Amino acid sequence: MAERKIECKVLKRVREKKKLTSGELQLITKIAKEELKFLARNNIPLIPENYILWFEIFCYLIENELELSDLEILGLFKEKYPTIEKVESVLVEVEPQEKELLKRVAEEIVNEVDKVIESLDVHNKNLEEKENSFREIKETISDDTVKGLLEKILSELSEIKGQNEELKKKLEEANNQIRKLTSELEETKREASIDFLTQVANRASFDRAITDLVNDFYRRNYPFALLMIDIDNFKKINDTYGHQAGDYVLRELARVLKSQLRARDVIARYGGEEFAILLPGVTFSQAIRVAERLRRAVEKHLFKYGDKVIPVTISIGVALMREGLDETALVEKADKALYLAKRSGKNQVKTDLDVELEE
Ligand code: GH3
Ligand code: MG
Ligand code: MG
Repeated sequence: MAERKIECKVLKRVREKKKLTSGELQLITKIAKEELKFLARNNIPLIPENYILWFEIFCYLIENELELSDLEILGLFKEKYPTIEKVESVLVEVEPQEKELLKRVAEEIVNEVDKVIESLDVHNKNLEEKENSFREIKETISDDTVKGLLEKILSELSEIKGQNEELKKKLEEANNQIRKLTSELEETKREASIDFLTQVANRASFDRAITDLVNDFYRRNYPFALLMIDIDNFKKINDTYGHQAGDYVLRELARVLKSQLRARDVIARYGGEEFAILLPGVTFSQAIRVAERLRRAVEKHLFKYGDKVIPVTISIGVALMREGLDETALVEKADKALYLAKRSGKNQVKTDLDVELEE
């Protein structure tokens, strides 16, 4: 037999970040439904890792219109993933993008399964009505053969009812599992993008945001500016008031900065006591004005810690996105401006143009 390549076209499109057509979304839902049934049937846990691996298998089956038995499908899995020993204990890293897909699929499946459960309820009610009328008929009949036959029908009806209840229970369990999975995915997404101490974006999501803006700048000529912020003499704050007080200053500073920004601005904790802010759609002079406003707001704010007020100031470097720059070069420019602000006495705003004038 010629060697077959077990692959999934629609997943490839997802990985390439292609926009999916409604037909493709329908296909994904169909794949996921078949997959879910199979996983439940074979007691394979519904964890995200399994979900992805098996998704590829079912995608291959459905895209190629193959109808295989469960045993053959398990064989296919072994063929595709020869290094995985036990299908129940699979651990691989799931890409954030695929988590997004999983979430969407999971939501659709939950809705579908809810509908099936509803129709099962209706079905069981019908069965019950039939059962009752058969029982009534049975009372009026004296013929033993007919009575025996009705007896049999009645017991079969109650068996079907029992099976339906069983199925309903399984489906409800599956739905609960999927709901849990969805909220876990939500949770990991949050954890991966927020800085725990200050509750602003973390370095990873800052990197994603600046890349998006750089792409937008070259695609649509959409301007933006970057502010690099560093707390002045933060080491002294730690030394004087303690590390806990330092942590409080970081949290409170993030709050003060955030309160001065628009919804679409991005504020991130860039490093220990450094913050980075992206200002989409601003001119150079607007960016400088925002930076100056931030600097002043921090200088004026009362950082109350216990019965003490901790004096806090920040230095800011501003750089405007320009033709020829990429993310790294832009950060470098803002960083240089920040160090010029430090050298010039701290608690001030400097720009990449100031740096050029210095040189
Ligand atoms: P400068 O004005 O030149 O920026 O001086 P500085 O003291 O702020 O800079 P330096 O880089 O010497 O010190 C930064 C300090 O920030 C050192 C480090 O212990 C502290 N730091 C970094 N992350 C945290 C944190 O999460 N919590 C606390 N409390 N301190 C932190
Ligand atoms: Mg620093
Ligand atoms: Mg500092």
